[in-house]
Parts: sequence; structure tokens; C-alpha cells
Amino acid sequence: MRRTKFTRIRNETLETILIRRSENSARVFWCADCGGDTVWLNVAETSFVCGSSVREIFRRVEAGSVHFQETADRQLLICERSLARKNPA
Ligand SMILES: [Zn+2]
Repeated sequence: MRRTKFTRIRNETLETILIRRSENSARVFWCADCGGDTVWLNVAETSFVCGSSVREIFRRVEAGSVHFQETADRQLLICERSLARKNPA
């Protein structure tokens, strides 16, 4: 029940980010690991959406449990789709 609430809040937060993004330039493009288009979040956004600390995000990146890539300006972007796989079942 708590999880359902969290998921709802998370989705609303993501929606807010997406709306804000679309006002600028949407950061939606291909993820080779997902094999489809996904939303790419920076570390601060990922932390906010997941409710995890920035350290936890970096830990997950290091562990390879999320899809990520570095931009030309060395910004770390995380695949939003891969975040959903944090707690399987
Ligand atoms: Zn992905």
C-alpha cells in the first residue's frame, strides 16, 4: 500500500520533470540496453524521483544496476526505465 503511494508520487514527480523538460528540450532518446526510447535523468533528478541519496545513485551506477551514459560535457545521465528494476517483485 505504501509502495503504491510511493509509485504514484514518483510518477507524478516524473511527470512534472517531463513537463518541465518539454518546455526546454526533452531528454528522451534511445537506450541501447532497453532497446527503446527512454527518459534520461541527471543525478539530481534521479535522486529526487527515486527518493534515494546521490551516493546511492552512484552506487547503483557503479554496480551496473541502472543504465547510464556520460554526455560530451561529462554529465551523467541515467535511464529512467532501468530505475524501475530496483525492486523486482
Ligand atoms: Zn535503459
